[in-house]
Amino acid sequence: MTVRAATILIVDDEIKDRKLLEVLLRHEGYLTRCAESGEEALTSIAQQAPDLILLDVMMPGMNGYELARTLKGNAATANIPIVMVTTQKDRSARLAGLKAGAEEFLTKPVDRSDLWLRVRNLLRLKEMGDFHQNHGNVLEQQIQARTAELQDFRTAMDATADAIMLLNRSTMRFVEVNATACNMLGYTRDELFQMDPSQLGVATLEQLASAYDTLIAGHGTTEVKETRLLRKDGSQLHVEVRRHAHRSGANWIIVGVVRDITERKEAEDRIRHLNRLYGVLSGINTLMVRVHDQTELFHDACRIAVETGGFKLAWVGVVDRSTMQLKPVAWAGVGQDYFERMPLSLIEGDREKFGLGGRAVLEKQPIVIQDIEHDPQILLLREARERGFRSLVVLPLIVSGTVFGVLALYAGESGFFNDSEMKLLRELAGDIAFAIDHLDKLEKLDYLAYYDAVTGLANRSFFLERVAQFIRSAASGGHQLAVFLIDLERFRNINDSLGRPAGDLLLKQVAEWLTHHLGDAGLTARVGADHFAVVVPDVRQAGDVAKQVEKTLVALLGHAFRLNDSVFRIAAKVGVAIFPDDGADADTLFKNAEASLKKAKAVGARYLFYTQKMTETVATRLTLENQLRQALDNEEFVLHYQPKITLASGKLTGAEALIRWNHPRSGLVPPGLFVPVLEETGLIHEVGRWALRKAIEDYLRWRTAGLAAVRIAVNVSPLQLRNSGFFAEIKRAIGVDARASAGLELEITESLIMEEVQHSIASLRAIRALGVSIAIDDFGTGFSSLSYLARLPVDTLKIDRSFVTDMTAGPEGLALVSTVISLAHALKLKVVAEGVETEAQSHQLRLLNCDEVQGFLFSPGVPAEVFENRFLALPAGRVAPASFIQPTLSAGRL
Ligand code: C2E
Ligand code: CA
Ligand code: CA
Repeated sequence: MTVRAATILIVDDEIKDRKLLEVLLRHEGYLTRCAESGEEALTSIAQQAPDLILLDVMMPGMNGYELARTLKGNAATANIPIVMVTTQKDRSARLAGLKAGAEEFLTKPVDRSDLWLRVRNLLRLKEMGDFHQNHGNVLEQQIQARTAELQDFRTAMDATADAIMLLNRSTMRFVEVNATACNMLGYTRDELFQMDPSQLGVATLEQLASAYDTLIAGHGTTEVKETRLLRKDGSQLHVEVRRHAHRSGANWIIVGVVRDITERKEAEDRIRHLNRLYGVLSGINTLMVRVHDQTELFHDACRIAVETGGFKLAWVGVVDRSTMQLKPVAWAGVGQDYFERMPLSLIEGDREKFGLGGRAVLEKQPIVIQDIEHDPQILLLREARERGFRSLVVLPLIVSGTVFGVLALYAGESGFFNDSEMKLLRELAGDIAFAIDHLDKLEKLDYLAYYDAVTGLANRSFFLERVAQFIRSAASGGHQLAVFLIDLERFRNINDSLGRPAGDLLLKQVAEWLTHHLGDAGLTARVGADHFAVVVPDVRQAGDVAKQVEKTLVALLGHAFRLNDSVFRIAAKVGVAIFPDDGADADTLFKNAEASLKKAKAVGARYLFYTQKMTETVATRLTLENQLRQALDNEEFVLHYQPKITLASGKLTGAEALIRWNHPRSGLVPPGLFVPVLEETGLIHEVGRWALRKAIEDYLRWRTAGLAAVRIAVNVSPLQLRNSGFFAEIKRAIGVDARASAGLELEITESLIMEEVQHSIASLRAIRALGVSIAIDDFGTGFSSLSYLARLPVDTLKIDRSFVTDMTAGPEGLALVSTVISLAHALKLKVVAEGVETEAQSHQLRLLNCDEVQGFLFSPGVPAEVFENRFLALPAGRVAPASFIQPTLSAGRL
């Protein structure tokens, strides 16, 4: 094959992107031409056809898809290979590109070696195609002739990480394969030449032949699909296969490019497993507050394990000491039919009947079978296989030291129960055991002893029981909880003057009113003659409780209670205690709420929190609200910028915008003190809009001034993203200038994305299509979202500061960060570590392949002017400070 310098046409509206692609390609000896738009590209191609086109997707006017379609629709230009360069990683954008006719994809920022490899391989393929067309020879013959040129081609093919396989449609035999294909599949070249493709386990020969014919009929189209291949040793491989049909004389050659995605698939599977288990765990935790007896508990637990956890079968057996057997008492899923044959004996010597359940009971340890198929401990192998079981666990349920029974779970995939899964399952077994114990105690107590005879509300001890339950779920959910006591003022007077029966009637009305006002009788209780108690099971902020208490007190006072044709207005005082700050258990919380109530009465306050600080916070909160309303008008907000540094090069690559409030008297106020108030009052929408506009304005100013501007990440509050007008707002904000979108990234907290996954995916996708990138902030603080990571259209993952701090403290912290980084990389996300304060942390993160860092080690957030002077060097004149960070672009990435 002839070696001549290929000409590559770069089509991109961004000059920076064009320049860098040019530099990278020339370095490899290619000739380059550039076009700023689709239209310009068409003119340029008409004058002289290039050998390959690198094509940006998002361009004003004719975009990348349209240009690709036009070129592929024209016989004269259809054979020019197109590589689309896009910021979008999601599948639908890629499919749209493939439909438009692109051969390959590159994701921005472009990886240098990736670029070279793909360009080179595509050029070689094209050259080969041209070669065949010209000579009209059968490819097969040439390959078998092993010409020197072919050897060259092979060397090139062998250098790629993808397996490349060429197959002759008429003989249905491989005619060429590269070294990667051999390594991937475990066959030698010659072995592959002897085989037919159905032996790789994809499909039958007929199915393959018809798939190839469809491809040939679609002439020029490319098909991409995920599938599994069988290696020579029988193991399976997850792959992404891309197939084209090429005409070669009278024959058709099917070119398959196969990429190994096993690692990514495994990461995705792990995530899916863990997510299923989290779902089961939280489902079972909510059960505990709801169910009334053990049968119901076991039944629902099994149902959740099957429905939410996706297990094939779940059953609970209890230890029956009279028969020395496990007795199945609840189950869900398939395979309930074989309980009669199951080995359920608790006597170890009982050879045929002593199985895994018995062992779990005797050893008081979970028994795990990762691969039923190959485990000698399985007694009913055929039965298990017929029902699709591949792995299983038997968990002992231990109540006060003795085994009460077991929970058995059967998964349809082998190897389901790894370390992280087992950790969750142990927790699960613990929770179920707790519930058994709890229900046991409940049943023993007289039901009537739980309620107040006058009002029908819970009495004090039942209330404390409930609070204890809520505390358990607050502790595992990591949220706060509040207990407040309400003391009706001057109630004694009513009792004394109107008599007890009248007083009781009034109490009844108050109880009804409270239940109605709070919307749930399960949250209230009468705990003393004129005392009521309320529990708020899930508190996000102490301020919320203050608001609720205020609202309740105002509404109570406003309500007209009627008794003997007179109207009564009832005032009250309230004492509040918050879990966990004011007490770790129900009794302490209650006592402290009583103490704060007493104090409220003594000082004449309408309500008091147990902690003095809390009360003060609530009071200053109200002043703060008013001041914040004025701050926007008075332009008291400022943005500070904190640099983000690429570890590999030590270069500046971005900035995070951090808002500060320049208070006229107190000076700079950090966001932790006022952002929550902005959110509560809804001011966050206006302030958030301001921050977006300001960051874009600064970015454009930098660019206009010729500074080496970097993308600015702006923090977005959950409330903003949830707002239906948010997308329009972003569009408007970047609409001021075509360059603006390249300067904007949004940082969104993990927990938020989690709450409304479906909605989030759609709106994030729309925002990214504008060219704005998205980062997940504080990653690791809301673990449940791990599972959705793979589906989220995001670019970057920011590891929360707490993980960075823990990382150098011990091996577990290190392992965690390392896992997060590899997981993120498997999902093609960039990783930024936050809060890097020491050289040691920075060094460690570099070893772990973390992409970028941000933290006090380099710089805190600084005012825009300082950031410009210190980090964005000017082309001429001013001297950069003695910072080791130099604002150059790294050579390897765009
Ligand atoms: P964040 O997004 O996690 O921002 C990082 C915080 O960590 C910043 O605090 C930053 O100053 C601090 N930080 C950075 N490096 C280090 C380090 O090495 N050590 C330590 N100890 N801290 C470091 P800041 O500026 O007080 O911001 C706090 C939070 O306020 C931010 O957390 C973010 O959630 C929120 N926030 C900041 N600006 C905005 C904004 O414009 N809009 C909204 N909605 N929220 C904002
Ligand atoms: Ca942030
Ligand atoms: Ca953060």
